[in-house]
Parts: sequence; C-alpha cells; structure tokens
Amino acid sequence: MSVLPWSLLPDNSSVGPAGQLVVAGCDTLELASEFGTPLFVYDEDHLRARCREAVRAFPGGAQYATKAFLCKAMASLAYEEGMQLDVSTGGEYHVARAAGVPAQHLVLHGNNKSEQELAVALRERVGRVVVDSFDELDRIERLVAEGLPVPQVLIRLTPGIEAHTHEYVQTGQDDSKFGFGIHTGAAEEAIRRAASSPAVALVGVHVHIGSQIFEADFFERAVHIVGPWCRDHGLAELSIGGGLGVAYVEGEDAPTITEWAAAVHRAVDRVGLDVRVSAEPGRSIVAQAGVTLYTVGTIKPIPGIRTYVAVDGGMSDNPRPVLYDSGYETFLPRAVLADRSKVVTVVGKHCESGDLLVRDGKVPADLAVGDILATPVTGAYGHSMGSNYNKVPRPAVVFVRNGTARLVVRRETYEDLLRLDV
Ligand SMILES: *Cc1c(COP(=O)(O)O)cnc(C)c1O
Repeated sequence: MSVLPWSLLPDNSSVGPAGQLVVAGCDTLELASEFGTPLFVYDEDHLRARCREAVRAFPGGAQYATKAFLCKAMASLAYEEGMQLDVSTGGEYHVARAAGVPAQHLVLHGNNKSEQELAVALRERVGRVVVDSFDELDRIERLVAEGLPVPQVLIRLTPGIEAHTHEYVQTGQDDSKFGFGIHTGAAEEAIRRAASSPAVALVGVHVHIGSQIFEADFFERAVHIVGPWCRDHGLAELSIGGGLGVAYVEGEDAPTITEWAAAVHRAVDRVGLDVRVSAEPGRSIVAQAGVTLYTVGTIKPIPGIRTYVAVDGGMSDNPRPVLYDSGYETFLPRAVLADRSKVVTVVGKHCESGDLLVRDGKVPADLAVGDILATPVTGAYGHSMGSNYNKVPRPAVVFVRNGTARLVVRRETYEDLLRLDV
C-alpha cells in the first residue's frame, strides 16, 4: 500500500463521506468546480497557527519572509497574528503597505536595493534596513544627507557556512552575493563604518544561511560564528534569518518552528549573549498550508518507458521542480486515502520537455482524464515564483476556514495578459 502521508496535508484536513479531501470544512472537488483549476487552496487557520507559533518561539521578533507567498490577504494575516514582515524589494514593500502593514513593522532586505527603494523606506521610517553592501551604505548616507530620517540597521554577515541544501538556496558560504564576508574582512569594515556613520543607527547583525535546511545544527553554528560580533560591538539584536526546511515527500522529517527556535536560543545561551533574537521564517509558515488542484487533461502511456499525465498548469505555477529538482507527492482529492499503485510523470502544459511537476508521482490505478489531481505542500515559492510563460494565466488563490472559501487572488484573465501592452 502506498497511501499519501497525512502529515503532508494542511492541519485542518479531513475525509469527506465519499472519501474526498476536505480542507477546513471545504470539499476540495467543489472548490475546483467553483473556482476552476489550477487553484491554490490555503488552510487559513494553519497559516495563522504557524504565525502564532513563530511569534511565541521568537519573542524578540518574528518576521514573515514574504517572498515565500505574498498577496494582501497573506500580508495582513501575518500582521494580525503579530508578525513583522520581511520584504526584499520595493514591490514586496508596496504590497505589504497596500495591505495596511505599517512601515515600522517591515524589515527591508535585498542585495541591490535601489536609491528609490531605500528612499521610500526611509521616508516612511521602515522598521529595519538590513544592509548588504558598501554601495548601499553610500546610498543611505546620500539620502540622509538630503534630509531623510536615519534608519535603524542590521548588518548582514556571511559566516562561511555551507548548509546542506540545494546549491541555489545556499546563502551563507564565502562565495555569495549576499552580505559581508566574515573571512574576507568585509564584515569588520562594514560594522566599523556603520557604527561611526551618523547616517545609520546600527542596532545588530543578521545572518541567513539558506533555505530548506533540516538540521538545526547549521543554525547553531551560525549563532556561534555571528553571535560574538554582537558582544564585541555592543549590539543588541541578532537576526538568525529564515531557512527552516519542511517535509515535501514521504520519509522527510523537519523540525517544528518551536524546535528550531529552541536550538537557536540554546546556542545563544551557550555563546553567553544577551541579545534580542529574531527570525524570518517563510517556507515553514506557508508551505504545508497550501495544496494545488489541477485537472488532468491528457494521459500518454509510452510502453516500457513511462506514463505522462498532463495537467492544466505546470512550471508557471510551480517552478521548483525545474529550478531545484524538487520532489512532490501527488494524489487524487476524490480518493485521498486510496492506495496509489500506479507511478506516473506529472507534467504541465508548457512547451518545454523540462516542464515537470512530479517525476515519479504515485496515483490510484483508476486515474482518468478529467480527474482533479493535487500536489500537497505547494504553499511556498509556487505562486510567488510563478510566471506567465506561454501566456498561461496565473491561478486563483483561495483561503478556506470554517467551511467557507474566500477568494484572495482572482484568476488572471486573457485581458490581464494584455494589460501591459501599449
Ligand atoms: C528567503 C529568505 C528568508 C526566508 O527563507 P525560508 O527558507 O522561506 O524560511 C528569510 N530571510 C532572508 C534574508 C531570505 O532571503
């Protein structure tokens, strides 16, 4: 028997009378017919519970990393639950502000912030700026000289750690476009310059070693390397960044946000630091809250090779398999507990052989054209990394809670596809 591991589904999942998947009281098959497919379905209480967990686990501050999934509803949800928001571009900043999040609750990231992005943030007195380069310090100094308010800043340090994760999402190694290298001497120079510059109020240091990291050990090492910089320079804040991994497929097991925080706080105690510790979880807040629903359109068995199952989305709503070779599970929402005895390759509708969603997806043997097929754990870096490739309109997003579905991002129309053409 190969049944979908229940732990990969949103918290408030249940099985309906016909064996179908119900999320937060909403029948997923009815959601597919009401809102169409592809469709991102988020369990709203699951999102809220993870935000609350992060706020409890990091009393020094928990910032939701908006790049994992951002729309106005998500920004206001995280804010309502007591999180600040981490934004890394002017666009993310704009969406968070449009959702009503005060600038004081935003942390501005980015390795190449433009003068304009910085000017807006400084003028609105953004909560923190995480400084990533000497050029950025130059820009802040120019803006403050022109009369903008002095920002509170953290300096992003690069500790020289290669966390066990995909190379494209490692960010703590010496060879990185992010931050100031500790081994190169840049970190020392950046802190000295920021501490003596009247244009910035230096309050702490930041480190982000990567994403989809399962071992708490790497975060402890980051604290051991970066923590002493707080002590040596009398800084009150340490941000440990984000990066906590989540289970995507059968057999994977990730620490909870609470366990992650405990490991970080232990390491801080061991180093003997008296600092405010904050963190920036993204994936671990939203990934497992989301499920994507697709409609199966074509089934193409190639004897002795494989069976291709093509759905109505693909790399435009989930580019992770193409970018990182990421694995996913598959199931049929009409029979969520069914044995998945057939192995197929789930592909999208884009004009690329690489347009793959699930390499060896298990499905029930009676899979048929017209079925709704789902991939779980698609709440992070799917919608946010999506595109319009092949002019495929972006999917809608619904939040479900207590038996009610709320459309939070409508499906893109063909008209939308023309709105930038002049
Ligand atoms: C991407 C990113 C995060 C969030 O990472 P997750 O792996 O989604 O938790 C947090 N902080 C910074 C600076 C990032 O770049």
